[in-house]
Amino acid sequence: MAETAKILCPDKTVLLPDIDAGCSLANDCPADEFQKFREDNPGHFVVSYINCTAEVKAQSDLICTSSNAVALVNKLPKDKKIIFAPDQNLGRWVQKNSGRKLKLWPGSCIVHETFSEEALLKLKIENPNAKVVAHPECSQNLLNLADYIGSTSKLLDFISSDNSTTFMVLTEPGIIHQMKRKEPKKNFIEVPDLEGCKCNECPYMKLNTLEKILDCLKNNYPSIELPPEIIEKAYKPIKKMLDMSF
Ligand code: SF4
Repeated sequence: MAETAKILCPDKTVLLPDIDAGCSLANDCPADEFQKFREDNPGHFVVSYINCTAEVKAQSDLICTSSNAVALVNKLPKDKKIIFAPDQNLGRWVQKNSGRKLKLWPGSCIVHETFSEEALLKLKIENPNAKVVAHPECSQNLLNLADYIGSTSKLLDFISSDNSTTFMVLTEPGIIHQMKRKEPKKNFIEVPDLEGCKCNECPYMKLNTLEKILDCLKNNYPSIELPPEIIEKAYKPIKKMLDMSF
């Protein structure tokens, strides 16, 4: 996200409190291996989820978010062969909802793949009236058990519009704070991870602490720096997403 801000505003300073606060999806898709994947699949239009590196964006034709991925893929000509990267779970969900065949890069988010199916089934038995809401980055076995699947913003809309009073939440648990603020009279249940310890907080996001925010504001450092040629190439598929969204 910090790199995307820099790509969109190259003349501005973009600070990241901890320069290692990346993303497992981005780490799962190294630029050189992705280039080889593209070369092995010639003639494909490349759609990349925004959670990827600037170098992978620079190799893409179109960037998407989890909110607009299905709509954007649906707008592409039917005969276009499409690579979708880097999240295979999101890609599978887009494939199902668009009816388009996608060539998937085999990446995934460590947070969304950590939830325990067994623990979810147990919670469903204990809370028969609760609804399961899930982010499409979750693996298929978990999505099969969801009542509603959507991006972060769509999950927040759903918990307000739906009549249920209890929801089991399959995404980064930081969202539960927002859900509770939005719907203080409703209940939100965190689903445990495979170890049963409810510790599926994103280890990357958690690197950005209040102390580090204060330090980076004082020192104007660490800041995001990207080669101009990468900024130029990566801007095009982001701009295409914005143009196709209106
Ligand atoms: S939860 Fe963390 S690792 Fe997963 S997509 Fe978001 S930033 Fe990346």
